[in-house]
Amino acid sequence: MVSRTPQVEERATAGRTRHETEGGEGFRSRDASSLRDGAPRPTREEERDAWRIAATVADPEVPVLTIEDLGVLRAVEVDASGVRVTLTPTYSGCPAIDQMRDDVLLALTAEGFRDVTVDFTLSPAWTTDWMTDEGKAKLEQYGIAPPTHRAGERSGPIPVMLGVKCPRCQSLRTREVSRFGSTACKSHFECLACLEPFDHFKVH
Ligand SMILES: [Zn+2]
Repeated sequence: MVSRTPQVEERATAGRTRHETEGGEGFRSRDASSLRDGAPRPTREEERDAWRIAATVADPEVPVLTIEDLGVLRAVEVDASGVRVTLTPTYSGCPAIDQMRDDVLLALTAEGFRDVTVDFTLSPAWTTDWMTDEGKAKLEQYGIAPPTHRAGERSGPIPVMLGVKCPRCQSLRTREVSRFGSTACKSHFECLACLEPFDHFKVH
């Protein structure tokens, strides 16, 4: 475990949310505000290299997306004891996360990094707000409608209800067929203009 300064400890505690009782040995809490729009990038050269390698790992469920596109890759730290990678699963119990962990271990080991460990952190909880704009564009090209708005925008008294755009013909004349699509992260839609069915990555 990395020792923390009292100031960091205080910020980490403030950043914990609904999952604060979860997490075990490998748990490291981070400042929620600094993670809001993408994780902070390592500054040291070795950490940048390790980040770049880990960032190439694909989401097993949507292979066009990397774990960086998804916002699942949260931290990469390199020191004398080895490499520590921190991932946040897209949702608790997501089966893809074990595959992502194995792939990160393989990718870093193949590039010569040793003593690689991968930790999971559930706090702050993953949100589709962490998905990069590039990731959203890749999703749409892949035929999956990206999240329609930021999860943070739901916090007001009136929920934001934006239409889901068909990824094929761009029509907003679409309707939800099923709350769950090919995976729990997605719902199933059909386009009333071009009649094609498609998945929508739900705001989470
Ligand atoms: Zn369409």
